[in-house]
Amino acid sequence: MDDRTHSPVPAANPGLAHSLTGVVRHDWTRPEIAALFDLPFPDLIFHAQRVHRLHFDPHEVQISTLLSIKTGGCPEDCAYCPQSAHYEAGVKADKLMEVDAAVAQARAAKAAGASRFCMGAAWRAPKDRDLDAVCAMVAGVRALGLETCATLGMLNAPQAARLKHAGLDYYNHNLDTSPEFYGEIISTRIYQDRLDTLDHVRAAGIHVCCGGIVGMGEARHDRVGMIATLASLPAHPESVPINLLVRVEGTPLAREAALDPLEFVRTVAVARIAMPASVVRLSAGREDMSEETQALCFLAGANSIFYGPKLLTTPNPDQGRDMALMDKLGLVPMR
Ligand code: SF4
Repeated sequence: MDDRTHSPVPAANPGLAHSLTGVVRHDWTRPEIAALFDLPFPDLIFHAQRVHRLHFDPHEVQISTLLSIKTGGCPEDCAYCPQSAHYEAGVKADKLMEVDAAVAQARAAKAAGASRFCMGAAWRAPKDRDLDAVCAMVAGVRALGLETCATLGMLNAPQAARLKHAGLDYYNHNLDTSPEFYGEIISTRIYQDRLDTLDHVRAAGIHVCCGGIVGMGEARHDRVGMIATLASLPAHPESVPINLLVRVEGTPLAREAALDPLEFVRTVAVARIAMPASVVRLSAGREDMSEETQALCFLAGANSIFYGPKLLTTPNPDQGRDMALMDKLGLVPMR
């Protein structure tokens, strides 16, 4: 062996080899996830990139567009969210959008390069009459040849079945953070409520989009706990959005200290290694992220972005800027 060649797995941590195979597993422990976070940065990125290439074309980025179909006035108290009725964040509560208007937005998103159209409503849980309209939107968006995704709050089993029947491909429902830190962020529901909805979505045969938010004042062990929970689900979410907190004036987290961007990149890399066959999405927070940080995230195995000027109510980079960055990095939209 050339004596300039170095093993990328630190000899001091031989137990890590099992975590780095790129095989999809569901028996992750917190110490294993913590050991990934603790890797020297070059080793972590190397392994994340290697695992990424076992499952994906590293040049492809899946592009989703997110539309708020019902904005504001939400009865939940998520401390990061300007749509909560508990906070004065300047978001006006609107009624549910008309079906035709949502489908027209989906048509425009498709023309701009999106392959998936996500519809978000600020509800604790949808009422059955609201679900009629959402099902019509889902059917209309699907008829355009787009993948469909919705995020509507908690679902029961019959509601999940109705959405599946309407043609829903993905349901987004984030775990947000670790089970231990959850109560610091939300008091109007419990972690188990999230897990129950995920079970109903899975049982209905809908793909799961589930991740979390970092930078909410949680400790690294909470980021470990969040990823360990996601990676220990009976089936990994097909999409794993990793959001960076957008500190919105009027919300309780408006003054939260900024997370070190390299810690954000580490979180993306660990998610990639722990859920090797899932699409890892760079979600909220890109507006304030440098191109260099985003490039590191792609290197760390992120392979999806939200595209479009707004993420529900918070700003997102405009499409021209995203396309220019993808061009610079030699990335192309996933077919
Ligand atoms: S994150 Fe969702 S559930 Fe929480 S307050 Fe905002 S809209 Fe409501």
